[in-house]
Amino acid sequence: MSAQFIQPDRIRRSRRKTIALIVRRDGTLEVRAPQHFTDKQILEFVHSKQNWIRKIRKRQAAVRTTQPAHAYLPGEEFLYLGRPYPLRHVEHQRKVLHFTGTSFDLRTSAKPEAAVVIETWYRTQARAHLTDRLDHFAQQHEFVYNSLRISGARTRWGSCNTQRGSLNFTWRLIMAPPEIVDYVVVHELCHLKHPNHSPDFWAEVEGILPDYKQRRKWLKENGLKLQV
Ligand SMILES: [Zn+2]
Repeated sequence: MSAQFIQPDRIRRSRRKTIALIVRRDGTLEVRAPQHFTDKQILEFVHSKQNWIRKIRKRQAAVRTTQPAHAYLPGEEFLYLGRPYPLRHVEHQRKVLHFTGTSFDLRTSAKPEAAVVIETWYRTQARAHLTDRLDHFAQQHEFVYNSLRISGARTRWGSCNTQRGSLNFTWRLIMAPPEIVDYVVVHELCHLKHPNHSPDFWAEVEGILPDYKQRRKWLKENGLKLQV
C-alpha cells in the first residue's frame, strides 16, 4: 500500500449485508460494513475504491469553493427551477419576500430572518409545483398516491413509502431545472409499482421519460449545487 493510500476515518459495523463507503461533505471517509468483515477485508475494499473516493472528494471541494453559503446580501443569486435570480433588499414592501420573476425582493427589515423567509418561500413553491407535476404524471400513467410530504433533506431528493402510498420530496428540489424535478417525481411514482430498483422499475421510468439517464446524470453531477 502506497503512502497516498486513503484510510477510512471511521468504520462502523452493523447487521447490514453489504459494505458501503460514505464520503462526508467535509471529506471524511466512513465505511459501513457487515459484522463479519475483518479490518483487512475492509481496508482491501477501501484500497480498491481509491479513485472513486478521490473523485468524490474533488467534486465536493469544487462545490465548496464555487458555492459558498449565502450571506443573504444584495446581488447574491438564488436558484429557482434551474435559473439564478439575484436577491435585492427593498425598504418598503408589503410581503417580506416577493419574487418578481427577475429577482427576489426581500424587505430590509426581514434581513435577520432571511434564511427562514427564503426557505419558507421555497417550501411553498415546492409543494405547489410538486403537487402539479405529481397529478400530471399520476393522471397520465395511472398512479395512485395518498400524500405528499416536503422534507428538508440535503441529498435525498425523494422517497416513497409504497405501503402507505406516501411520497416525500425535499424542498431543495425546487432549485433544480423543471425536467430534473420531473425525473425525481416520476422516479418516486414508479416506486409505487416497483418498490426497488429492478430492471422492471427502470423500464417503467424509461417508458415515461425516455431520456431519464441524462436527467439522473445531471442530478448526480449537480445535485450538491442545489444549496442555499
Ligand atoms: Zn429509487
